[in-house]
Amino acid sequence: MPIDACLAIVSDRINESEKSSNWNLCTDSLYSAMTRLCALGTKIHPVAVGRRSHSPSKSQGDKMGVCELHDLNFIAGKWHAGQLDRHFEVFNPATAEILSSYPLAGEEDVRLAVAAASKAFPGWRRTPPQDRIQYLFKFRDLLIKNSDGIARLTTQENGKTLAEARAELQRGIENVEVACGIPTLMQGYNLEDIASGIDEIMIRQPIGVTAAITPFNFPSMIPLWFMPYALACGNAFILKPSERVPLTAHLLIELLHETGIPEGVVGMLTGGKETVDGLLHHPDVRAISFVGSTPVARYVYAEGSAQGKRVQCQGGAKNHVVVMPDADLDMTAKIVSDSAFGCAGQRCLAVSVAITVGETSKTFTDRLVDLASGLRVGNGLDEGVQMGPVISPASKSRIEKLIDGGLHHGAKAILDGRNGVADHAGAFLRPTVLTDIGSDDELRDTEIFGPVLSIQQASNFDEALAILSQSRFGNAASIFTTSGNHARRFRYEAPTGNVGVNIGVAAPMAYFPFSGWRDSFLGVLHGQGRDAVEFYTDKKVVIERWPKKWSRKF
Ligand code: NAD
Repeated sequence: MPIDACLAIVSDRINESEKSSNWNLCTDSLYSAMTRLCALGTKIHPVAVGRRSHSPSKSQGDKMGVCELHDLNFIAGKWHAGQLDRHFEVFNPATAEILSSYPLAGEEDVRLAVAAASKAFPGWRRTPPQDRIQYLFKFRDLLIKNSDGIARLTTQENGKTLAEARAELQRGIENVEVACGIPTLMQGYNLEDIASGIDEIMIRQPIGVTAAITPFNFPSMIPLWFMPYALACGNAFILKPSERVPLTAHLLIELLHETGIPEGVVGMLTGGKETVDGLLHHPDVRAISFVGSTPVARYVYAEGSAQGKRVQCQGGAKNHVVVMPDADLDMTAKIVSDSAFGCAGQRCLAVSVAITVGETSKTFTDRLVDLASGLRVGNGLDEGVQMGPVISPASKSRIEKLIDGGLHHGAKAILDGRNGVADHAGAFLRPTVLTDIGSDDELRDTEIFGPVLSIQQASNFDEALAILSQSRFGNAASIFTTSGNHARRFRYEAPTGNVGVNIGVAAPMAYFPFSGWRDSFLGVLHGQGRDAVEFYTDKKVVIERWPKKWSRKF
């Protein structure tokens, strides 16, 4: 049974049982579908899927469990267990349930994966672009067919709501669609007769074995910022997903494998620092893409560049929005609340600081607090839940400590989310809204990466711009205004790579670069779109002399 058929059955059965609240519907067909799914290419121990004697409520949808995967390294077309002597456990952050415990990949796994990729590269490079993208068309169709199953898995290992998981997958699929345009996007240019009988051509060639190291917060979308472009351009590609969310990545690779893509062209390694170091120091890895926190981005950029690799690193963020007095405050409060608390604040484009200008502060703050305090926090698989947990108990206590520290230094919590959610084992926080953060407080320029919004006041537009310009980060900034003058000045002067005007999460579409400046990005070429094609190709310039006596009969 193909993987999409398995997932379709799984998904149907879950839907049926959820609709009827009858968990016993999850019987043999589901069990065998899950078992089949687990068995595809892996040595897997299916955990208790569906065979539960009790009748859980809808809120226990997550307890359907996922396959307990051990083999999370895809090398030469097969799944293998990592060879390090250390195990890592993947938790469902909403329930604290262990979804997988697997051995991490080490240096030997890296060596094998790079060897398989290097072996596959010449054949893949010679495959015409038109033929290469046929695999991506199939991949796109499989992603769409299996989107429900993928989204559920993302919710289970990451905690975000099902709607958020579906939305991120959709943004990922859009990157596959853009990469399918590679026969046009990869074209070079030429000019004949640069001198008499001499022509000059620029052609783009794939660069070889490439790798991407990705974070926990977008388990499906971020790998898809890189993988489709790398492959479409004719490179071999190795994904190193966050060790905290490898199950969605496993499914993506499994679906890609199902397209029939040649063995070794795509690989996956699951581990932490050792795996990353293995990739950074392997001489046959030509290019590295990284998305994660700024300290690790700096490390990867420095090490990778020192090894002569092409490196692009997207780092952390602290995003500001400016709320002008002429903004539509109802709309603004709603958008800012979604931006700050969506994905539990674990988005690199989430707003962290709202700067209210002039008289807007009280009205804006009241409306925002109203909305934020009404958000339903819980298990992302449950219907109606608007905010899931943060990724782990460690992350929860880190965020709580940052809030404690801020309050200790004089900040005020007009909404305090540290009390979490009663009766839940998960890493839950509620939305927090802080004011009066001191200018030298650690919170001012620390990435919190949780559901915490600070509100600052400015007396005019210039002061607001000055506040956000002081941040060391430069991922995104937005303005809410009805004034074309302020909007245009903001677009011109905001020192960030992504700018929103009346937009809360200024996330570039797949055919635009996902920008980022200052401490939020190291490198030159960004992910997505034309930048990705530049990143994943080498430019070669050919100058040809064709003397008249050989070539020109005219
Ligand atoms: P992280 O930096 O902890 O991990 C990212 C990746 O690096 C993971 O694959 C991890 O295994 C690896 N890693 C972790 N520590 C390492 C080390 N010491 N040496 C080598 N590799 C290491 O980030 P995270 O917690 O997974 O993700 C959250 C961060 O990602 C936030 O800072 C967020 O702003 C950032 N992010 C940025 C963007 C962007 O577009 N700029 C997008 C998404 C997330």
